[in-house]
Amino acid sequence: TMPLPELTLIVAATSKMGIGLRSTLPWTGLKKEMAYFARVTKRAPSPGSTNTVIMGRKTWDSIPPRFRPLKDRRNVIISRSLEQTTSAESQIVGSLPEALNLLSQQSTASDSKTGKAFIIGGAQIYEAALELKQARRILLTRILSDFECDTTFPVVLPESGEGNGWQRKGKAELDAWVGETVAEEIQEETGTKYVFEMWERLD
Ligand code: NDP
Repeated sequence: TMPLPELTLIVAATSKMGIGLRSTLPWTGLKKEMAYFARVTKRAPSPGSTNTVIMGRKTWDSIPPRFRPLKDRRNVIISRSLEQTTSAESQIVGSLPEALNLLSQQSTASDSKTGKAFIIGGAQIYEAALELKQARRILLTRILSDFECDTTFPVVLPESGEGNGWQRKGKAELDAWVGETVAEEIQEETGTKYVFEMWERLD
Protein backbone atom coordinates (compact mmCIF):
# COMPACT_ATOMS: atom_id res chain seq x y z
CA THR A 1 0.00 0.00 0.00
CA MET A 2 1.04 3.58 -0.62
CA PRO A 3 2.36 5.63 2.29
CA LEU A 4 0.07 8.53 3.16
CA PRO A 5 1.11 11.57 1.18
CA GLU A 6 2.66 14.26 3.35
CA LEU A 7 0.74 17.54 3.32
CA THR A 8 2.16 21.04 3.61
CA LEU A 9 -0.12 23.95 4.44
CA ILE A 10 0.92 27.26 2.92
CA VAL A 11 -0.63 30.46 4.27
CA ALA A 12 -0.07 34.15 4.76
CA ALA A 13 -1.45 35.37 8.09
CA THR A 14 -1.34 38.39 10.37
CA SER A 15 -0.02 38.08 13.93
CA LYS A 16 -3.65 37.44 14.98
CA MET A 17 -3.76 34.69 12.30
CA GLY A 18 -6.11 36.68 10.05
CA ILE A 19 -6.13 35.34 6.47
CA GLY A 20 -9.20 36.69 4.66
CA LEU A 21 -11.72 39.50 4.37
CA ARG A 22 -14.97 39.43 2.36
CA SER A 23 -13.92 36.42 0.27
CA THR A 24 -10.57 37.83 -0.69
CA LEU A 25 -7.19 38.60 0.86
CA PRO A 26 -7.14 41.37 3.51
CA TRP A 27 -4.11 43.01 1.83
CA THR A 28 -3.12 43.90 -1.71
CA GLY A 29 0.13 44.49 -3.53
CA LEU A 30 2.30 41.76 -1.99
CA LYS A 31 3.68 40.80 -5.41
CA LYS A 32 6.92 39.26 -4.17
CA GLU A 33 5.01 37.28 -1.56
CA MET A 34 2.72 35.92 -4.27
CA ALA A 35 5.74 35.14 -6.43
CA TYR A 36 7.23 33.15 -3.49
CA PHE A 37 3.97 31.18 -3.22
CA ALA A 38 4.06 30.46 -6.97
CA ARG A 39 7.74 29.36 -6.98
CA VAL A 40 7.44 27.18 -3.91
CA THR A 41 4.23 25.45 -4.96
CA LYS A 42 5.50 24.88 -8.53
CA ARG A 43 8.99 23.58 -7.66
CA ALA A 44 8.77 19.81 -8.04
CA PRO A 45 10.98 17.50 -5.97
CA SER A 46 12.16 15.53 -9.02
CA PRO A 47 12.13 15.98 -12.80
CA GLY A 48 8.93 14.71 -14.39
CA SER A 49 6.84 15.20 -11.28
CA THR A 50 4.08 17.76 -10.77
CA ASN A 51 3.00 19.27 -7.46
CA THR A 52 -0.64 19.46 -6.39
CA VAL A 53 -2.48 22.39 -4.80
CA ILE A 54 -5.62 21.49 -2.84
CA MET A 55 -8.11 24.26 -2.05
CA GLY A 56 -11.66 24.95 -0.93
CA ARG A 57 -14.29 26.11 -3.41
CA LYS A 58 -14.34 29.66 -1.98
CA THR A 59 -10.59 30.01 -2.42
CA TRP A 60 -10.92 28.75 -6.02
CA ASP A 61 -13.62 31.38 -6.60
CA SER A 62 -11.32 34.06 -5.17
CA ILE A 63 -8.67 33.44 -7.85
CA PRO A 64 -9.20 35.69 -10.89
CA PRO A 65 -10.40 33.43 -13.75
CA ARG A 66 -7.41 34.35 -15.93
CA PHE A 67 -5.05 32.94 -13.28
CA ARG A 68 -6.80 29.61 -12.77
CA PRO A 69 -6.19 26.77 -12.74
CA LEU A 70 -2.90 27.76 -11.09
CA LYS A 71 -0.44 26.87 -13.82
CA ASP A 72 2.18 24.12 -13.67
CA ARG A 73 0.40 22.54 -10.71
CA ARG A 74 -2.41 20.02 -10.46
CA ASN A 75 -5.38 21.91 -8.99
CA VAL A 76 -7.82 20.02 -6.75
CA ILE A 77 -10.95 21.87 -5.58
CA ILE A 78 -13.02 20.58 -2.65
CA SER A 79 -16.76 21.26 -2.84
CA ARG A 80 -20.03 19.71 -1.76
CA SER A 81 -22.06 21.79 -4.22
CA LEU A 82 -20.08 21.83 -7.47
CA GLU A 83 -20.45 18.95 -9.87
CA GLN A 84 -17.51 16.56 -9.68
CA THR A 85 -15.37 16.98 -12.78
CA THR A 86 -11.94 16.00 -13.95
CA SER A 87 -9.68 17.60 -16.51
CA ALA A 88 -5.95 17.44 -17.07
CA GLU A 89 -5.12 20.34 -14.75
CA SER A 90 -8.09 20.68 -12.42
CA GLN A 91 -10.37 18.33 -10.58
CA ILE A 92 -13.33 18.86 -8.27
CA VAL A 93 -13.79 16.38 -5.43
CA GLY A 94 -16.36 16.09 -2.64
CA SER A 95 -14.04 15.90 0.39
CA LEU A 96 -10.45 16.12 1.59
CA PRO A 97 -10.14 12.31 1.84
CA GLU A 98 -11.19 12.11 -1.82
CA ALA A 99 -8.53 14.65 -2.71
CA LEU A 100 -5.93 12.54 -0.92
CA ASN A 101 -7.12 9.37 -2.67
CA LEU A 102 -6.55 11.13 -5.94
CA LEU A 103 -2.95 11.85 -4.95
CA SER A 104 -2.11 8.24 -4.18
CA GLN A 105 -3.84 7.04 -7.37
CA GLN A 106 -1.88 9.51 -9.45
CA SER A 107 1.41 8.54 -7.90
CA THR A 108 0.93 4.96 -9.07
CA ALA A 109 -0.85 5.43 -12.37
CA SER A 110 -0.47 8.50 -14.47
CA ASP A 111 1.76 10.29 -16.88
CA SER A 112 3.24 12.74 -14.43
CA LYS A 113 4.52 11.58 -11.04
CA THR A 114 2.97 13.17 -7.95
CA GLY A 115 5.28 15.72 -6.41
CA LYS A 116 4.60 17.72 -3.27
CA ALA A 117 1.04 18.27 -2.04
CA PHE A 118 0.07 21.71 -0.73
CA ILE A 119 -3.08 22.76 1.12
CA ILE A 120 -3.55 26.37 -0.03
CA GLY A 121 -6.69 27.30 1.94
CA GLY A 122 -9.08 28.63 2.94
CA ALA A 123 -9.87 28.35 6.64
CA GLN A 124 -12.30 25.44 6.23
CA ILE A 125 -9.82 23.34 4.29
CA TYR A 126 -6.88 24.23 6.58
CA GLU A 127 -9.03 23.09 9.52
CA ALA A 128 -9.90 19.76 7.88
CA ALA A 129 -6.24 19.19 6.92
CA LEU A 130 -4.92 19.99 10.42
CA GLU A 131 -6.96 17.10 11.81
CA LEU A 132 -4.73 14.75 9.81
CA LYS A 133 -1.34 13.69 11.22
CA GLN A 134 0.10 13.73 7.71
CA ALA A 135 -0.23 17.53 7.73
CA ARG A 136 3.20 17.95 9.32
CA ARG A 137 4.40 21.29 7.95
CA ILE A 138 3.17 24.86 7.60
CA LEU A 139 4.84 27.45 5.39
CA LEU A 140 3.75 30.68 7.03
CA THR A 141 4.24 34.17 5.71
CA ARG A 142 3.80 36.21 8.85
CA ILE A 143 2.31 39.59 7.97
CA LEU A 144 3.61 42.02 10.57
CA SER A 145 1.02 44.75 9.95
CA ASP A 146 -2.49 44.45 11.31
CA PHE A 147 -5.35 44.12 8.80
CA GLU A 148 -9.09 43.79 9.31
CA CYS A 149 -9.98 40.12 8.74
CA ASP A 150 -13.16 38.01 8.90
CA THR A 151 -11.43 34.65 8.37
CA THR A 152 -8.63 33.21 10.51
CA PHE A 153 -6.18 30.32 10.34
CA PRO A 154 -7.33 27.67 12.84
CA VAL A 155 -4.05 27.37 14.80
CA VAL A 156 -2.16 30.19 16.51
CA LEU A 157 1.56 29.97 15.63
CA PRO A 158 3.05 32.27 18.28
CA GLU A 159 5.89 34.66 17.50
CA SER A 160 7.91 32.98 20.29
CA GLY A 161 8.41 30.05 17.85
CA GLU A 162 6.67 27.27 19.76
CA GLY A 163 3.12 26.48 20.85
CA ASN A 164 -0.09 24.54 20.22
CA GLY A 165 1.86 21.46 19.12
CA TRP A 166 3.92 23.32 16.51
CA GLN A 167 7.51 24.54 16.37
CA ARG A 168 9.22 27.01 14.03
CA LYS A 169 12.20 25.58 12.15
CA GLY A 170 15.41 27.39 11.24
CA LYS A 171 16.46 29.00 7.97
CA ALA A 172 18.57 26.02 6.82
CA GLU A 173 15.60 23.69 7.09
CA LEU A 174 13.29 26.15 5.34
CA ASP A 175 15.77 26.65 2.48
CA ALA A 176 16.30 22.90 2.10
CA TRP A 177 12.61 22.08 2.05
CA VAL A 178 11.49 24.78 -0.39
CA GLY A 179 14.61 24.41 -2.57
CA GLU A 180 15.75 28.01 -2.62
CA THR A 181 17.52 30.56 -0.46
CA VAL A 182 14.70 32.27 1.38
CA ALA A 183 15.19 35.82 2.61
CA GLU A 184 15.62 35.80 6.38
CA GLU A 185 15.24 39.50 7.01
CA ILE A 186 11.95 41.41 7.22
CA GLN A 187 10.44 41.99 3.77
CA GLU A 188 8.48 45.11 2.89
CA GLU A 189 6.14 45.82 -0.04
CA THR A 190 3.79 48.79 -0.36
CA GLY A 191 4.31 49.55 3.32
CA THR A 192 3.47 46.04 4.55
CA LYS A 193 6.18 44.13 6.42
CA TYR A 194 6.36 40.33 6.53
CA VAL A 195 8.67 37.36 7.18
CA PHE A 196 8.88 33.81 5.74
CA GLU A 197 8.67 30.96 8.28
CA MET A 198 8.39 27.17 8.33
CA TRP A 199 6.69 25.26 11.14
CA GLU A 200 6.59 21.53 11.91
CA ARG A 201 4.51 19.43 14.25
CA LEU A 202 6.21 18.68 17.56
CA ASP A 203 5.20 14.98 17.75
P1 NDP B 1 -12.60 27.74 1.68
O1 NDP B 1 -11.71 28.25 0.61
O2 NDP B 1 -12.03 26.82 2.70
O3 NDP B 1 -13.82 27.03 0.91
C1 NDP B 1 -14.96 26.61 1.63
C2 NDP B 1 -15.78 25.70 0.73
O4 NDP B 1 -15.08 24.47 0.56
C3 NDP B 1 -17.14 25.33 1.28
O5 NDP B 1 -18.10 26.33 1.01
C4 NDP B 1 -17.40 24.04 0.51
O6 NDP B 1 -17.66 24.31 -0.87
C5 NDP B 1 -16.02 23.40 0.53
N1 NDP B 1 -15.80 22.56 1.70
C6 NDP B 1 -15.34 22.91 2.92
N2 NDP B 1 -15.25 21.85 3.72
C7 NDP B 1 -15.65 20.79 2.99
C8 NDP B 1 -15.77 19.40 3.27
N3 NDP B 1 -15.45 18.89 4.46
N4 NDP B 1 -16.22 18.60 2.29
C9 NDP B 1 -16.52 19.09 1.08
N5 NDP B 1 -16.43 20.39 0.75
C10 NDP B 1 -16.00 21.22 1.70
O7 NDP B 1 -13.39 28.97 2.36
P2 NDP B 1 -13.11 29.89 3.64
O8 NDP B 1 -14.23 30.84 3.71
O9 NDP B 1 -12.76 29.08 4.83
O10 NDP B 1 -11.78 30.72 3.23
C11 NDP B 1 -11.81 31.67 2.18
C12 NDP B 1 -11.11 32.94 2.64
O11 NDP B 1 -9.75 32.64 2.94
C13 NDP B 1 -11.08 34.02 1.57
O12 NDP B 1 -11.18 35.28 2.19
C14 NDP B 1 -9.70 33.82 0.96
O13 NDP B 1 -9.22 35.00 0.33
C15 NDP B 1 -8.90 33.48 2.17
N6 NDP B 1 -7.64 32.77 1.89
C16 NDP B 1 -6.48 33.29 2.40
C17 NDP B 1 -5.27 32.65 2.21
C18 NDP B 1 -4.04 33.24 2.80
O14 NDP B 1 -2.96 32.61 2.69
N7 NDP B 1 -4.08 34.40 3.43
C19 NDP B 1 -5.19 31.40 1.44
C20 NDP B 1 -6.48 30.94 0.95
C21 NDP B 1 -7.64 31.62 1.17
P3 NDP B 1 -19.17 24.40 -1.47
O15 NDP B 1 -19.80 25.59 -0.83
O16 NDP B 1 -18.95 24.55 -2.95
O17 NDP B 1 -19.84 23.10 -1.12
